[in-house]
Amino acid sequence: MFYQSDVEKFMKAGDQPISKKLSIDSKEADLYMNLITEEYKETIEAFENKDIIELADGLIDMVWVIMGMCNSCGINFEEVWQEVKASNMSKFVDGKAIKNEKGKIMKPESYFKPNIKQVLGLIKD
Ligand SMILES: [Mg+2]
Repeated sequence: MFYQSDVEKFMKAGDQPISKKLSIDSKEADLYMNLITEEYKETIEAFENKDIIELADGLIDMVWVIMGMCNSCGINFEEVWQEVKASNMSKFVDGKAIKNEKGKIMKPESYFKPNIKQVLGLIKD
């Protein structure tokens, strides 16, 4: 997954610190949280205006600043993604989804919650 490392290169070029340790309490985390909010609002506006170009721009900008947030907080996006993906895929029974009347995929007995705490190295198994 190269998105996080692309944004890391951008941040290093812009003298923005990359945290290798888990940390939520920094100036950069504040900055990226504000950027996520800004890009989210732009994306909503694009969607409401039915502007596909601005929508694409907003969605990719959101991913960009989310990667920046991960870099600011020492979160390895790919590792957490893999855990969440495994959890989401556990919602299928015999390869099939169980959906409610609105089409939302429901959680069968095989479902397991993502263990984010472990993936982040905050507990040992
Ligand atoms: Mg934007």
